Amino acid sequence: MAMMSSAPTINGAAKARPEMADLVPGIANALSQLVRRIVAPNPGLMTGPGTNTYLIGIDEVAVIDPGPDDAKHVEAIIGAAMSERIKWVVLTHTHPDHWPAAKAIVARTGAMLCAMAAPPKADKFDLRVDRFIADGDLIDGTEWGLRVVHTPGHAPNHACLYLEEERSIFTGDHVLNGTTTVVSPKRGGDMAAYMESVRRLKAMRRLTRLLPAHGDVIDAPYEKLDEYLKHRAAREREILKLLGGGPLRIRALTSEIYPDLVEGLVEMARNQVHAQLVKLRAEGKVAGTTFTAIWKLSG
Ligand SMILES: [Zn+2]
Repeated sequence: MAMMSSAPTINGAAKARPEMADLVPGIANALSQLVRRIVAPNPGLMTGPGTNTYLIGIDEVAVIDPGPDDAKHVEAIIGAAMSERIKWVVLTHTHPDHWPAAKAIVARTGAMLCAMAAPPKADKFDLRVDRFIADGDLIDGTEWGLRVVHTPGHAPNHACLYLEEERSIFTGDHVLNGTTTVVSPKRGGDMAAYMESVRRLKAMRRLTRLLPAHGDVIDAPYEKLDEYLKHRAAREREILKLLGGGPLRIRALTSEIYPDLVEGLVEMARNQVHAQLVKLRAEGKVAGTTFTAIWKLSG
């Protein structure tokens, strides 16, 4: 699970994305000396053009987010890397559009499966992890190093992976291109943690690029991170303003905030609003209990 558009513009955002024309499934695209990208054939409302699988290195290869268990996609990954060179399969998190291909790749290459601990039950993650990674860990290839940056929020066990040699960072679903990350309490999402994790990336110095799990490369990292922070702050203000008019349920709030949402995204948007309300409640600004409850301003 990944994303949806930031909103009233969702219909337009879901359709035309000319800048992503090169995101063709099955073709390995060289993005830099060390990085190749293969898009998985799982486009959709929640996955954009499809999950981006990244291959790091040539001599020893790490595969980040192998994606869905699709035979052609697995072939494309193994074919691009030469199987014996794949030493690691690394998951940014365990949502089901990111990991199922790991099983076939690990079985065929003997690669080490690396992921953060404690996958949420809803992810139905059932693979054996060879190495549990934690914040600050280094995955150490002959030509490169990938540093683990724990970024909870979209998922509690979400990690970004910082490629030291290029000062670029693989952002998984933490930061996406063209759309906004879903933070759903039903999937372990936490908006306060999420905002903190966006600020954490922003505090990293001299980042050159963000490489998201969905959508194209982001060449202006700090602009994008600022945009994310501003977007969330604007949503919060909107929610507070709407509740200023009187108590509301999440359904009503959501249809005010996202009036033109396509049917397939309504539930996600409601979860997103819920996540924002939970954060505002922790800050003492609103009162309310559950997803179906009536929410109001505090005090
Ligand atoms: Zn996800």
